[in-house]
Amino acid sequence: MIRKPFSVALPAALAVALAATAPAAAQDQVLNLYSARHYQTDEALYSDFTKQTGIKVNRIEAGDEALLERLRNEGTNSPADVLLLVDAARLWRAESEGLFQPVKSAILDKRIPLHLRSKDDGDGAKWFGFAVRARVIVYNKEQIDPKLVQNYEDLARPELKGKVCTRSGAHPYMLSLIGAMVEHMGEAKAEEWAKGVVANFARKPRGGDTDQIRAVATGECQVALSNSYYYVRLMKSDKPADRDVVSKVGLLWPNQGGTGTHVNVSGAGVAKHSPNREVAVRFLEYLASDSAQLHFSSASNEWPAAIGVKAANPELESLGQFKADELSLGAIGQAQPVAVRIIDRAGWR
Ligand code: FE
Repeated sequence: MIRKPFSVALPAALAVALAATAPAAAQDQVLNLYSARHYQTDEALYSDFTKQTGIKVNRIEAGDEALLERLRNEGTNSPADVLLLVDAARLWRAESEGLFQPVKSAILDKRIPLHLRSKDDGDGAKWFGFAVRARVIVYNKEQIDPKLVQNYEDLARPELKGKVCTRSGAHPYMLSLIGAMVEHMGEAKAEEWAKGVVANFARKPRGGDTDQIRAVATGECQVALSNSYYYVRLMKSDKPADRDVVSKVGLLWPNQGGTGTHVNVSGAGVAKHSPNREVAVRFLEYLASDSAQLHFSSASNEWPAAIGVKAANPELESLGQFKADELSLGAIGQAQPVAVRIIDRAGWR
């Protein structure tokens, strides 16, 4: 069909008004998101942002190492607006390499608790947590009395010799937990603890958190550490073998009588050289909104980070309430170099 060029005849004022309301103008806006999260379900979250704002989300997904490498190489020419990573250890690493810029936002200040973001030197935080996970103790229900393992400290008890398995201490999930131990008990005691845990290993560290849960179920070891969402994922699995694993493995919240269970986040910040800073901040604010929080957390079986938002995830909720450690994730991030020293000295690899 050939369209007549009638717009030429439009009165100037009307043409300007039409241009201002044309969705095309907003659709030209793009947010470049560099994400180390890889959940199919996150797709709906981003399309909802586009629906609300007209801003398209151009998502670059890769592992955290690859994303950081890419940002370093791109330097000041980087098109990245927002960098989304999981775990404070990784967020801190990007922060320490100067890959974020500080953000001041009344919405984020109101919605995201202080301890779930980076340190703020007065010009705003560099990153904010949007979904929360806990590092829990899992144990073989037939072989271990849970009273023996109420705290992270208990993993170093001599009674557990040959019964503990973990993933490598060099993994960010372990480094963050060790960073928290350092903050709570000091470097010397945290190192002593780490050596005690290593002395109790049933096997050399290998695999991810799900592998530890499976090893507990088979009895290869009796106690392990895992992020909470791996356990929930097995609960929700449509494979009977996975649900069978869960039936053999108990989950407990460590350190309920003291500092609380170590929690961590999926978090994001505005990239240092974001070409579109305003849109980037708007996106972070969107991630803190009720609808995004519910979506964000149910996609990955995490708890909403925003104050007052409850998870809509029956399996996750079935785990019950617990006392979370409110130690600043920014401080845990800064303890990373000490945590690395400790795992090297303890041989936790
Ligand atoms: Fe994970």
